[in-house]
Amino acid sequence: MSHDADVIVAGAGPAGSIAAFELAVRGVSVLILEKSTFPRYKVCGAGLTHKILKEIPFDVSPVFETAIRSIQFSHGLKDVFTRTSAQPFIYCSMRDKFDAYLLEKAVEAGARVEFGEQVTFVEQDSQGVSLKTKRQSYRSQLVIGADGASGVVARSAGLRDNIQSGLAWEAEIATDPESLQRFSETVFLDWGAFPGGYAWMFPKADHFSIGVGGPARLSKEMMPYYHLFLRYLSANMKVMETQSLKSWPIPVRVAKSRFHNGRILVAGDAGGLTDPMTGEGIFYAVGSGKEAARSCYNYLAGNSGAIAAYTDKVNDEYMTELLQAERIKSIFNTFPAKIHGWVRESDRAWGAFGKILRGERNYAHVRSGFGRWRFLWNLATLITGTVYKIRENRFIKRGFPVKQTSEDE
Ligand SMILES: Cc1cc2nc3c(=O)[nH]c(=O)nc-3n(C[C@H](O)[C@H](O)[C@H](O)COP(=O)(O)OP(=O)(O)OC[C@H]3O[C@@H](n4cnc5c(N)ncnc54)[C@H](O)[C@@H]3O)c2cc1C
Repeated sequence: MSHDADVIVAGAGPAGSIAAFELAVRGVSVLILEKSTFPRYKVCGAGLTHKILKEIPFDVSPVFETAIRSIQFSHGLKDVFTRTSAQPFIYCSMRDKFDAYLLEKAVEAGARVEFGEQVTFVEQDSQGVSLKTKRQSYRSQLVIGADGASGVVARSAGLRDNIQSGLAWEAEIATDPESLQRFSETVFLDWGAFPGGYAWMFPKADHFSIGVGGPARLSKEMMPYYHLFLRYLSANMKVMETQSLKSWPIPVRVAKSRFHNGRILVAGDAGGLTDPMTGEGIFYAVGSGKEAARSCYNYLAGNSGAIAAYTDKVNDEYMTELLQAERIKSIFNTFPAKIHGWVRESDRAWGAFGKILRGERNYAHVRSGFGRWRFLWNLATLITGTVYKIRENRFIKRGFPVKQTSEDE
């Protein structure tokens, strides 16, 4: 049976386009099947840290909208302070532009793309993989599932275990030129309002992206929180109510797992590779997309163990880090006010925050920061993990204290 390409990539988000780029520059025939038509809107803050920029194999500065030097922190919409850095530590984009740019680079490198092709079914045999879309069938030697949080490839290949669901809501909010100018270099970040919950405002070229996120099981509390956050922001700036509020799952892998099955690999959100602390996923999408492409290339070059090596690489490189993030999250969610105060008072804490955003340090370094007490790390995170779960359950029973917080404001 003939193949439409050596590798078919399902989905043209950051994971899919970077995987296709890496394959195409190595001379591999690669076809992307994307369900929508680009450019398309994607609900996302599109905050690009230096860590992400280092991972992307070409310059993406043409799609930057703003450069962020300050973060205004609040704890439960109170106790506000701002931290500033001389150099920008995040660049904000819009995902329609960013994703179209990455895809354009993949196509320039030689990848083909079919828009309006939603993969609905994937099946493999000893010779290759068959995919069905609503319109037709395709065949390839290997498939990379980069079809996002609700994609079908991981599900068809039985690669969805150990994934917990986060959820985020975001809207693109109109403002006035004066507010835009005043906050063009500032991100607002509220944390600690409820267990695992956070809210953000990212300034873009002509509006603000404003959202809230947290564990999916607390989803019903997110709307009251979102409206309180908007009210809180409107004390400082012009924010106009919007119709564009949208939610999207944030899949979080909570244990080392398989990221391949036979000839099928999964990358990015399809593999549940997002940071449980922050919801950040573009770094892991780009990184795992690159690794998936390298494994496919090595397999096609005759290394029969290359696909299994992908799972090992993702577990060693990314899951080790994400599991540390899960532990740090449990400490943060047990002592949010203390950590908020620490970031405000301590230059060391703020410096560490900046180093993580720049990719100079990772979460595994946080444990070593405890010096001679680091042997207690596992026990401490076990206890805080339990305390956090109790708090979360209590919070679910009690709900978000809308009245109390709004009156306080
Ligand atoms: C509100 C919100 C804010 C966020 N903010 C940030 C942030 O500031 N920084 C950050 O790093 N991360 C952020 N994230 C996470 C980030 O959006 C994701 O981790 C990232 O998009 C994952 O990239 P991906 O390529 O794996 O998947 P996606 O970006 O979801 O791309 C998947 C692609 O596959 C296509 N597709 C889906 N199903 C099919 C199918 N069956 N067949 C064919 N094509 C299909 C989709 O149309 C899409 O183009 C945020 C997430 C949310 C929800």
